[in-house]
Amino acid sequence: MFNKTKKIFLLTFLLVSLFWGGVNTLTAATNNYKIVVDPAHGGSDAGVKITDTINEKDITLAIALALQTELSKEGNIKVILSRVSDKDVTAENRKKIMQENKPNFFLSIHINRGFGKHASGFELYYPGFGKAAASTKKDAKGLSPERIKYLNESVRMAHLIQRNLDSVFPRMGRGLREADVPVLEGLHLPALVVEIGFASNSDDRKKLLSAKTQKEIARALSRSIKSFYR
Ligand SMILES: [Zn+2]
Repeated sequence: MFNKTKKIFLLTFLLVSLFWGGVNTLTAATNNYKIVVDPAHGGSDAGVKITDTINEKDITLAIALALQTELSKEGNIKVILSRVSDKDVTAENRKKIMQENKPNFFLSIHINRGFGKHASGFELYYPGFGKAAASTKKDAKGLSPERIKYLNESVRMAHLIQRNLDSVFPRMGRGLREADVPVLEGLHLPALVVEIGFASNSDDRKKLLSAKTQKEIARALSRSIKSFYR
């Protein structure tokens, strides 16, 4: 889980596509890309409890490492992990990784819980840009062209992840929402937070604890990222 301050509104994919589609930019396939993958939590910050001995931090790391393995098969995508072991990483350190690497995309992986034991599946969040539209060159909605491009890329990646994760959580996508993402405050880049499965749901818990399913989730995320940059 992550601390979603000021969750603003739920948008349908279609609406977002229509609204932002006009500023979509294609990037040449020959480019090299850097992705920061963030296995959320770590060390003394365990995240949500999955079993007596396994916590969110363990599952997010397993998925992130598997995602790195998958993406490293692609010659033009470099993956930087915010942590590779069970250690504390502060929000400042996560920010520093992005400031130093200037990635093309930031993907933070969490596990969800709550909304009763029947809530299941995955949720996607993209960072809200409301208070950060600081450019003097703004469009009619008050966002700079750069922000619109990043927002559009985040939404486009969300579409791909939703489509691909459907194989692991059939018809359990719980939509795309805008939220303030504390770790991204003050940073400008395309980004998504994916909350994969609910620790409070017994079927999801079984999936999350399965090494096979963890790899399937990683492959679904990898397919999404690869097709984004193809
Ligand atoms: Zn979390």
